[in-house]
Amino acid sequence: MDKTGIIKPVLDASYPMISHGEGIYLYDENGNRYIDGSSGAVTANIGHGVEEIADVIYEQAKQVAFVYRSHFTSLPAEKLAKKLASMTPGDLNWTFFVNSGSEATETALKVAIQYFQEQGIYTKTKILSRWTSYHGITLGALSMSGHHMRRERFSELLEDFPAVPAPYCYQCPLQNTYPGCRLQCADELERAIEQIGPENIAAFIFEPIIGAAGGAIVPPPGYYEKVKEICDKYHILTIADEVMTGMGRTGKMFAIDHWGIEPDIMTLGKGLSAGYTPMAATVVSDRIINVIRKGSRVVMSGHTFSANPLSAAACCAVMEYMEQQNLVQNAEEQGERLLNGLKELEQKYSFVGNVRGKGLLCGLELVNDALNHAPFSVSDRVGEKLISICFNNGLIIYPAFGGVTGYEGDAVLISPPLIVTSFQVYEILRILDESLQELMNHLVSSGIV
Ligand code: PMP
Repeated sequence: MDKTGIIKPVLDASYPMISHGEGIYLYDENGNRYIDGSSGAVTANIGHGVEEIADVIYEQAKQVAFVYRSHFTSLPAEKLAKKLASMTPGDLNWTFFVNSGSEATETALKVAIQYFQEQGIYTKTKILSRWTSYHGITLGALSMSGHHMRRERFSELLEDFPAVPAPYCYQCPLQNTYPGCRLQCADELERAIEQIGPENIAAFIFEPIIGAAGGAIVPPPGYYEKVKEICDKYHILTIADEVMTGMGRTGKMFAIDHWGIEPDIMTLGKGLSAGYTPMAATVVSDRIINVIRKGSRVVMSGHTFSANPLSAAACCAVMEYMEQQNLVQNAEEQGERLLNGLKELEQKYSFVGNVRGKGLLCGLELVNDALNHAPFSVSDRVGEKLISICFNNGLIIYPAFGGVTGYEGDAVLISPPLIVTSFQVYEILRILDESLQELMNHLVSSGIV
């Protein structure tokens, strides 16, 4: 055993040593090729090894890589903020740069609370969220995350933030069926607000399409319209966490654009830099900034590397690349192709209970009993098994389980880079088909089904 080294996700597991990447493919030092079918953690949106981005990073690093945001601003950071203001919905015109999605949601939490404090309202300190959600790993972000697996060790340290049932029709937490339910999950939001008292709640945070905690769960029509109405009625800010869904991933620039809703705060990460540098952002509305401007004039957050010119330049270059290559449209078109192919697999394998998603954020949920949507036993680790079979077959897919009520919910994400071609989509589907066949053999031979 090594006596020094990096701490790996599973300490003594061995991971292939990656030598380089090109487009949607990654290569290890032994020459094995992997299709990055999940864009890493739904991040490498423009694919690997894009020279234009490397060139911009090199040029920027030569000019100036770092300035501290309390001393200076920089052209790349200003340009990126302006660009985001022009792209985001409504009056989301002000960006606070951070370095990870968790920092972006933590900042959103603080900005929301500060917005009310600046107006002399000190009771609004809770953030409402949903079960089956993930907003980050730091304690504030985790306090807002309805993700049992990640919370349970630290539950004593977490803020007592309330959470409401997710709009998860396939496994409705309210045991209801759409449209007969008439969006009871949204009514639950109102019920929770009244119970806790709107005077205690600063904001409601949600992933427009639930990603890591549930596998591309798309709420039913009308849900967000109702949510927005309820939040506005009780003076509760809306925070759209687009860390995973933003920057074209779902076939629109932001997932919330599918519903035409204008949130008060939006968080971005992952695809913002497409993985070329660490970068994330909290984008805030005029309304909020105007209040802070009239008050303390300081947004009480920040990190050493916030708004560093190197990362900002990389993000600007990524956005230009996306525009030149028309990648949002490609995500929509290839996403449709991918989802149709996944639906065929749903027909073919009885344990593929549900496929769903938008654009290139697709989910596949495995169940023991397709008729009743009953999950596999947690100890069978069926989702993990599929991921490892795919890995051995050269296809990377992403786990999206553990967020439901414990560890169950064997969902995975298939979310290749937005540059994926039709041929590559079929390649992904072919490997997935073979892997599901292998999984079936495993389920039968080990007596699980
Ligand atoms: N919010 C969402 C919606 C996410 O999917 C993630 C990461 N999976 C985060 C926040 C946290 O981002 P990071 O891992 O960069 O801290």
